[in-house]
Amino acid sequence: MIFFLIAVLGLIFGSFLNVIIYRLPNEESIVFPGSKCPKCSTPIEWYHNIPVLSFIKLKGKTFCCHQNISLRYPIVELLSMLLWIWSYFYLDGLINQFFFIIIASCLLSIFFTDLNDFYIPLELNVLIFISALINYLVIDSYDLKFHFYSMISITIYFLVIMLLSSYLLKKETMGYGDIILIASISFWVGFIDSLLIIFFASLFSIIHWLILRASSKNKDIILPFGSTIALAALMVFILKNTLHIETNFF
Ligand SMILES: [Zn+2]
Repeated sequence: MIFFLIAVLGLIFGSFLNVIIYRLPNEESIVFPGSKCPKCSTPIEWYHNIPVLSFIKLKGKTFCCHQNISLRYPIVELLSMLLWIWSYFYLDGLINQFFFIIIASCLLSIFFTDLNDFYIPLELNVLIFISALINYLVIDSYDLKFHFYSMISITIYFLVIMLLSSYLLKKETMGYGDIILIASISFWVGFIDSLLIIFFASLFSIIHWLILRASSKNKDIILPFGSTIALAALMVFILKNTLHIETNFF
């Protein structure tokens, strides 16, 4: 029963994340007005807005104007559900689960806003930082200074790389959005895990670049580095806590 409840809550929360992903890059309020059709702005009734089920029932079309609804909507809802279920089984205690859900939801949203709009909402980065801070203050504040050290060193490292590569290549290689995202994530996970995340994010970006390169003639490829950072961060945190791998040796 509790399992079912968590799955449903995860789906409903995923539906809210879709609102964030759609509205934050357009600088719209995420509270008002209520849900409306992304194509024709007709308000959506709650019974046409049931996570995943409405998408299947309406066969992926909007009820009002019969346009295609992006597959992103049910995907975000299902991913949110999986994050809720995972945290229930693999994280200890309600506090850790609560803050993980907030941080993971921010990362999931950033993955899609950067992918769709090359936009990393600052407020989501701040939320990641504050959630991690409160979580460590409540659960164990012993390591807190190491989290600050890792944030400062990783951020400086990235700033230097950004300025140097932009100077050498004479074009913008990373945005400040990427740096702020790395800063908040490195505070959350610590130094060693940050290095792992940067490694995997770079690897994903290279693979993404190769795929885009092979499939398009356009030489000016812009990569959503924030998306791969967010993906790598979720992957490293989840794998580590699923397999109980200890990485922070010092
Ligand atoms: Zn419509």
